[in-house]
Amino acid sequence: MADIIKLLPDHVANQIAAGEVVQRPASVVKELLENAIDAQSNSIKLIVKDGGKSLVQVVDDGMGMSTTDARLSFERHATSKIKKAEDLFNLHTKGFRGEALASIAAIAHVEMQTRSAGEEVGTRLRIEGSEVVSQEVCVTPKGTSLSVKNLFFNIPARRNFLKSNQVELRHIMDEFHRVALAHPAITFHFYNNGSELFNLPKSTYRRRIVHIFGTRANAKLVPVEEETNVIKIQGFIHKPEFAKKSRGEQFFFVNHRFIKSPYLHHAVVSAFEGLIKTDTYPGYFLYLEVDPSSIDINIHPTKTEVKFDDEHTLYAILRSTIKHSLGQFNIIPALDFDHDQNLDTPYTYKNKEAKQPQVTVDAGFNPFLDTPRKPASATRGNISARKTQGEWESMYIGLDQPMRDNSSFSSVHLESDTITGSVFEGKVEVGHSVATTFQLRRKYIVTSIKSGMVVIDQNRAHQRVLYEKLLKSTTVKQSVSQQLLFPLTLSFTKSDRAILDEIRTDLTHIGFIFETLDDESLKITGVPTLIPENEVGMVLDQLISDYRQEIIGESFSQADILSKTLARSLAVKTGEILDCDSQLALVNDLFACKESRVSPFNRPIYIMLTEQDIEKKFI
Ligand code: ADP
Ligand code: MG
Repeated sequence: MADIIKLLPDHVANQIAAGEVVQRPASVVKELLENAIDAQSNSIKLIVKDGGKSLVQVVDDGMGMSTTDARLSFERHATSKIKKAEDLFNLHTKGFRGEALASIAAIAHVEMQTRSAGEEVGTRLRIEGSEVVSQEVCVTPKGTSLSVKNLFFNIPARRNFLKSNQVELRHIMDEFHRVALAHPAITFHFYNNGSELFNLPKSTYRRRIVHIFGTRANAKLVPVEEETNVIKIQGFIHKPEFAKKSRGEQFFFVNHRFIKSPYLHHAVVSAFEGLIKTDTYPGYFLYLEVDPSSIDINIHPTKTEVKFDDEHTLYAILRSTIKHSLGQFNIIPALDFDHDQNLDTPYTYKNKEAKQPQVTVDAGFNPFLDTPRKPASATRGNISARKTQGEWESMYIGLDQPMRDNSSFSSVHLESDTITGSVFEGKVEVGHSVATTFQLRRKYIVTSIKSGMVVIDQNRAHQRVLYEKLLKSTTVKQSVSQQLLFPLTLSFTKSDRAILDEIRTDLTHIGFIFETLDDESLKITGVPTLIPENEVGMVLDQLISDYRQEIIGESFSQADILSKTLARSLAVKTGEILDCDSQLALVNDLFACKESRVSPFNRPIYIMLTEQDIEKKFI
């Protein structure tokens, strides 16, 4: 047989490598920003157009490159950052694979201008799909400017796979945040389609966070600091009351590199245990410094995962550091066993003047009387003690009575009532206790139908009902909006605002009326009638997070995502008690839906048990 194995030509190999390194414009942004940081820049400009699809440009004032280096930098495995394998274990730079520029140049039109400090003139280089188109001498400031145009011009499949400009811009913003948060000592400018999105002067960690997430971010931050011989931790956590339903402002940096670590995330969340609701997440910005030889950042091509040598120790240190910060800043009431709480001044008395105690003497008191008269005021000193005891006891009042609210009990009662009724008395009660529907374990609604019975998941059923209603109002565009007497002002980060702007039309269709106050705040003057006023913030947060995570699937329309999210936020939850009328209404609404079998998230809504099914069980 003839030999059939051939080496792939370089440009093909580069294209394949590009698939790993460059998924979308945001990946280019990340690589270029990191290169600029590795080049020891003080100031970095990021310029993008059309969500990075037509242009991503990074201009830095770093060390620049010589003409030869400029040319070499586009070769695969060309890097100035490591020379031998051992260097991999002592990395202080972001890059080390020497792959990024070669990959990017394989799938885009790239132009680089660069000049190093020692040289008078610089180099201009143009490369398209791995081919050098031109190379010339040029006049350019010290540093490097690299522009990447028409990403994936030669891989139409990948280009078509890109999302809308706004979605791509959002990914770019996320990448930008990660890099900018990790390097407060570097000045960053970010321009999108000609307008300035961020202007971040050189500053501290805290001020960098505030510059990015808005002035309101400052009040949320609690400092965290710890130094041991294995790790140095600094940064901030959000106060527990700012925990959000959505993931978003959670950042770990290890040696100035953004990383994802579900394990360390767990350490942080567990430190918040008992302070935040179970389905909410605390925000955090944690900067960890460890010995570079104790981590391996090599395990992921895009380098956001890190392997630590001693994860368990880090977990424990991180958790206790955060607990300590929460305690130190009086976020948790201190647990002090020697401290007698009775000695505390109640809050309401705190600012009151102390009153002179009045001593009254019972003039008629005679210690020699057999049965002492009840003195008028001698027991005063005891009143407070008794009173507290009384209050203390009152906490137990009612405990001996059956709990009215607990329907997991009451539903059991209902069932047994009915059973006793029919089994022992031989007749079916038609009255209050035998309704056409009843609620089981605060989760299901059970109702009889001609052929048997259905058990309906109340939460999913309500999601379906709301979803169809909302979808209709977005598509028919006749919203039912409820004018707010007192407009709500809500604040959002810039990237959250970008998402709201993106879906603004649909939000309006559904009944939200809002105007922009400034960069960070919205004034909400009308909300959909379905949404209670105090839940507006929560619902919008959830919406933003769903968009960010794109969990709902890409092919659906905005209106669809919007309706799904709102339906999920607003639907009655498992655990909520529904009275008979609401149960009936829900059942009727459900079966009036176009699709009553599955929830908007494709989960079954009910199960049906036919008479035969039931009979089979009795065989
Ligand atoms: P890596 O960063 O992994 O070394 P890259 O392909 O990103 O690989 O870059 C290749 C080389 O080009 C780098 O090692 C560096 O020497 C040089 N280089 C890239 N970008 C810049 C820049 N902005 N300023 C100076 N040198 C750069
Ligand atoms: Mg690099």
